[in-house]
Amino acid sequence: MAIYTLPELPYDYSALAPVISGEIIELHHDKHHAAYVKGANDTLDQLEEARAKDQWGSINGLEKNLAFHLSGHILHSIYWQNMTGDGGGEPLEKDGTGELADAIAEHFGSFERFKAQLSKASATTQGSGWGVLAYEPLSGRLIVEQVYDHQGNVGQGSIPILVFDAWEHAFYLQYRNQKVDFVEAMWRVVNWQDVNDRYKRAKEKATGLLLAP
Ligand code: FE
Repeated sequence: MAIYTLPELPYDYSALAPVISGEIIELHHDKHHAAYVKGANDTLDQLEEARAKDQWGSINGLEKNLAFHLSGHILHSIYWQNMTGDGGGEPLEKDGTGELADAIAEHFGSFERFKAQLSKASATTQGSGWGVLAYEPLSGRLIVEQVYDHQGNVGQGSIPILVFDAWEHAFYLQYRNQKVDFVEAMWRVVNWQDVNDRYKRAKEKATGLLLAP
């Protein structure tokens, strides 16, 4: 039985247009994300077979595939939730409070400086990757990571709360080679309520997780 399943999109394919076209979202979710889900499940099956047969000739490739596909599945699952058709603005919650806004100001200097760092990290990714805002449980701080593929260049234990997909499949049909324009437009669909919620959950559940008992 499959361990991982493709989550439903929380909106219609065209809900993020004109920032991201319905065609891109449909392909991105139904084909690309689905392939990572299948890849993660297939790799788990292959590892089970390796254990059963005590045959380890492919262990390096299998572990690499597991990291790649599982991380792709996790990041895309967050990505869909991080966006909404009526998003954008700054990270204030419905009730006007701003726990995340305060943390961003404290850890990055200001919202504008944070925005510049995440934009740069996303737009300058070499090859395929992501720009990620993550909660880092050892220090209890927010950090920006520039992730290679789905799994490289990551601080161990950090929890992604806002992710910008900078793979070409995320924008090329619409933005062609203008990755900077795509990243700039992404800010107009950020679902800050979702990012706020993720920040609070990460802080509540993961603070102290990496400290020695
Ligand atoms: Fe993607």
